[in-house]
Amino acid sequence: MSDYEKLMSGCIRCSNCKFIPALQVKSQKFSSICPSIERYNFHAYSGGGKTIIGQAMLKGRIEYTDELLNVIYRCTACGGCDVSCKFFFELEPLEVISELRTHCVESGAGPMPQHKKWMESIELNHNPYGEPHEKRLSWLPKNIGLKEGFETAYFVGCTTSYRRKEIAQATTKIFDKAGMKFTMLGSEEYCCGSPLIRVGARKDALNLMRSNVEKLKSLGIKRIVTSCAGCYSMFKVEYPRYLKTDFEVIHTSELLDSMLRNGELELTKEVPLRVTYHDPCHLGRISEPYTPWQGQMVKVVSRVYIPVPPKVIRRGTNGVYESPRNVLKGIPGLELVEMERIKEYAYCCGAGGGVKSAFPDFALWTAGNRIEEAKATEAEAIVSCCPFCSTNLRDAIKERGERMEFYDLTELVLKSMGGRV
Ligand code: SF4
Ligand code: SF4
Repeated sequence: MSDYEKLMSGCIRCSNCKFIPALQVKSQKFSSICPSIERYNFHAYSGGGKTIIGQAMLKGRIEYTDELLNVIYRCTACGGCDVSCKFFFELEPLEVISELRTHCVESGAGPMPQHKKWMESIELNHNPYGEPHEKRLSWLPKNIGLKEGFETAYFVGCTTSYRRKEIAQATTKIFDKAGMKFTMLGSEEYCCGSPLIRVGARKDALNLMRSNVEKLKSLGIKRIVTSCAGCYSMFKVEYPRYLKTDFEVIHTSELLDSMLRNGELELTKEVPLRVTYHDPCHLGRISEPYTPWQGQMVKVVSRVYIPVPPKVIRRGTNGVYESPRNVLKGIPGLELVEMERIKEYAYCCGAGGGVKSAFPDFALWTAGNRIEEAKATEAEAIVSCCPFCSTNLRDAIKERGERMEFYDLTELVLKSMGGRV
C-alpha cells in the first residue's frame, strides 16, 4: 500500500469516482458507477473514500474495526471508480482497494467470516462452494468426454463447473459441433484464485496460481479459453503480473467471434428475442493487462505527484466489448438493444469482490438496479458472458418475480446451431 501513498495523496475528494463521466450520462437514474456509494451513501464507501482510508491506515490514524471492515468489504471490487477517476485524474482507486484488502488480511483483521468459510473449502476441495472435488466434472456430457493432448485448454472454472453447468455444457457442445480440438484439465483443474485475490488473500491465491501454472505447463498448454470473466482476468492480468506467465488467454466470446468470422461456426436457426448485453467487469474494464513500471513519483505541486517515466494506465477502454456483441449480432432473428451504462462504464452485477457470500442482500440489491436498467430497454432477456453475473442476475430476477429471462451467450449460440443444453 505504501507504493501508492503519493498517488493516494493526490485525491481531491471530487467524487467523480461515484458516477459515470458526465459526458456519458444519459439519465440521472442510471448515472451511478459505484454500487457501494449508491447503497450506503457515505463517502467512505466510494473509491475515493477508500483512498482516504488507505492514507489514514498508512499514517496510523485508524485501525481495523468491525465497522471499518464493513466499509472495506461492502464493495464489489468492480473497478467502476477506477475508470471514472482516470477520466479526469490518474489515481488508481481499484489498486488501493486491492492493497487495502491485502493489508487487512495480512494484519489478521480480514477477510470477513463468510469469506473464511469458502477459503477453507478452496484449501480442502479446490473450489469455494464446499463441493467435493471429484464432482467437478459432473456437468460433462457423456458423448463429449474428457479430451487431452492439445495446446488449447478449456479452463471451466469453479462457478461454471458447480453452479452454472449449462454454460460448460453449451460451450463444449459448440466446440464439439465445430470440430475444435481442446484439452480439459478435469480433476487437475483447481480454482483460478480469483475469489482469494479479490478479498485480499493474495498469498493463498499465489500458491493456488503456481500449482495451476505447473499443471498447465506440464500438459503443454499454450492457449487458455475461459467461460468465466473472473478466470479470464486472472489468467490475462494477475498470472502474468505476479507469475510472469505468457499463455495466450481468450474468453469464449472472443473465440466464438473469431470462429464466426472464419466460417468455423454457422448460426442458422432463428432466435427471435430482443436482448440486452451486460458487460461483466472482469471481462471488460478490469481485463487490461498490467504493464510493469519502475520509476519515481515526482512532485508537481502540493500533494500532486506524477510517475516518471510515465506509467501505462489501465483505463478500461481495451476490455472485451465487441466480441460478445458481434456474436449476438450474428444470431439470426435476435435483436440487440443497449443499456445506458455499457462497456467500461457498465454497472456491476453486484456479485464480485466477495460481496455475494458476505453481503447477499447488497449483491441482490445491485443486481436489481441492473435489471431495472435492462427493463428500461424493453428487452425480453439479459445476456452475459460470466457464470458469476449469471448466478446473481438470475437470483435477483427470481427474487423480484421479474418476467425477464437470462441467458449466457453460449446458450443462445448453441440454440442458433440447432443444439440444446
Ligand atoms: S479517487 Fe479520484 S475521482 Fe474519486 S474523489 Fe479521489 S480524485 Fe476524485
Ligand atoms: S470497486 Fe466498485 S463498488 Fe468498490 S468503490 Fe469502486 S466503484 Fe464502488
